[in-house]
Amino acid sequence: MNYCSVCATPVTKKIPAGDNRLRFVCDSCQTIHYHNPKIVAGCIPEWGDQILLCRRAIEPKSGLWTFPAGFMEIGESTEQAAVRETFEEAQAQVERICLFAVLSLPHIGQAYLVFRGPMHSPDFGIGEESLEVRLFSLAEIPWDQIAFPVVKDALRRYVDDVTRGEFQVHVASLSDRLT
Ligand SMILES: [Zn+2]
Repeated sequence: MNYCSVCATPVTKKIPAGDNRLRFVCDSCQTIHYHNPKIVAGCIPEWGDQILLCRRAIEPKSGLWTFPAGFMEIGESTEQAAVRETFEEAQAQVERICLFAVLSLPHIGQAYLVFRGPMHSPDFGIGEESLEVRLFSLAEIPWDQIAFPVVKDALRRYVDDVTRGEFQVHVASLSDRLT
């Protein structure tokens, strides 16, 4: 950050009184500009024993597969964001979604909230940000063509839970080595 978003004066990095981290502080209006992690909400849509994945049409990782996921918007809840992303990317309606995994990526300031839930019907389509959308049995998941390590991690946990016959809520932190 170079300029204050309130008054357009150059900002300086300093530790504000009572704080213990470097922040961008405006030299003129004294506004402290905090940079905090972003929440990514995603959903693993289920149809019977299959899940719906999308092949990304946009960078980064265009051409690789993911479940629908994206940054939360102001004014929506995490579960609304997951439902919205599922509709935007895969034109599928999910219902009664459950929290499945909270995966932190501290080195890039993101946390993924991954939900799972049944599709309302087998209808889906190719959203604006997708090249292809299809249902996969768990044995068909294209492990070597998954877009992001965090997505692969969530899918592995999902397959493990299905194999074990019991879902749990996973809370984990992925190191930069994996992402
Ligand atoms: Zn300012």
